[in-house]
Amino acid sequence: SGRWVKAMEIVKEFEEKCGTPIGKLRQVADAMTVEMHAGLASEGGSKLKMLITYVDNLPTGNEKGLFYALDLGGTNFRVLRVQLGGKERGIINQQFEEVSIPPSLMTGTSDALFDYIAAELAKFVAEEGPDFQLAPGRQRELGFTFSFPVMQTSIASGTLLRWTKGFSIDETVNDTVGTLAGGRYTNNDVAAAVILGTGSNAAYVERAHAIPKWHGLLPKSGEMVINMEWGNFRSSHLPLTEYDHALDAESLNPGEQIYEKVISGMYLGEIVRRVLCRMSEEAAFFGDTVPPKLKVPFVLRTPVMSAMHQDTSPDLKVVANKLKDILEISNTSLKTRKVIVELCNIVATRGARLSAAGILGILKKMGRDTLKEGERQRTVIAMDGGLYEHYSEYRKCLENTLNEMLGDEVAGTIVVEHSNDGSGIGAALLAASHSQYL
Ligand code: ADP
Ligand code: MG
Repeated sequence: SGRWVKAMEIVKEFEEKCGTPIGKLRQVADAMTVEMHAGLASEGGSKLKMLITYVDNLPTGNEKGLFYALDLGGTNFRVLRVQLGGKERGIINQQFEEVSIPPSLMTGTSDALFDYIAAELAKFVAEEGPDFQLAPGRQRELGFTFSFPVMQTSIASGTLLRWTKGFSIDETVNDTVGTLAGGRYTNNDVAAAVILGTGSNAAYVERAHAIPKWHGLLPKSGEMVINMEWGNFRSSHLPLTEYDHALDAESLNPGEQIYEKVISGMYLGEIVRRVLCRMSEEAAFFGDTVPPKLKVPFVLRTPVMSAMHQDTSPDLKVVANKLKDILEISNTSLKTRKVIVELCNIVATRGARLSAAGILGILKKMGRDTLKEGERQRTVIAMDGGLYEHYSEYRKCLENTLNEMLGDEVAGTIVVEHSNDGSGIGAALLAASHSQYL
């Protein structure tokens, strides 16, 4: 029928606009490398902040003692403690507690938020049992992962630049570095970390003398971890659609975090919803009336999208159930459900391929995208975040695309590795590798 034809036109146009042929991905990767240079050259030199983290000692595995960490992510925060036993014994004990942040605190003052966090931390510390031993004469040391952009002024201080991911807290404005530290603790070849969760970010190890904007003393290690804040990357080469522009314009941070808005978990489902909404309004895709639920921003969350996308039942039962439960749309035909799976695929594929291009950009900056004669360099990228962890189609697509762009020979030297819970443990490990008692 005419309606179906019109609906398919919308899908087809969307698919074309989302296209990520290898040539385009190379342009994105090159633009990422260029912006990395610019951000390192001067403060404000690029959309990429390329923040100096003051982390100049990544954990080696030799750390010993009791360390705490606090991990403030998108929706909840965790407190944890680890007992480190050095090279032989590694992580002897660990314990954590997850606390959700009351919604009222997410939009209140930062004082109220941090008071709450401090009180929860104090409770946790008070419950420390005999499995954890603080060396005599020491105070407890705490690492803090804070997955928001912070302009640091030392290893232990900094200013929040702005809230992202649905937080809006006035007054003030990083878990990627923790993931890098967590990865390095167990594998010395870890050189970069990428988070794909609610939001997205990357960090990597830079040579200290390759940071022109840094005028301080060069660290002994000769290295400095850079928090890229890559979510704010943008480039004319990014394939953006009218849906992306509308999502951005209606977001809490219009014009910002453009790359994050096409690759990260907070937004993928919402992009699918917007396309479905248009199909429903202009092509009566779900019948004569637009299902009211479909008009609600962010009702279609990325975990639901991934469940639909990865539905392997012959009649797409999962898709049917999600449509019914979440969008209150029943009696969909198999043909309709297939189109929805296809939409999920378009959005996830674009996101995964663009994140692979970003990783290639980092590898280029580090000079790890080619083989050096006589060198047997192995490079590990530590990955973490719920999107990477749970959306296997996305993860597979990212890995395949990276290998495709690198070519077989180089791809054999690059390993993408899930760094389990790097962000929490990583903070504790950083407290250890920067301990005041060293
Ligand atoms: P945060 O980024 O808030 O620190 P996580 O790293 O745990 O938290 O990532 C959570 C995000 O991961 C969710 O917001 C969601 O977008 C995504 N996610 C979680 N589960 C799934 C899933 N099953 N499929 C796809 N995405 C998921
Ligand atoms: Mg997190």
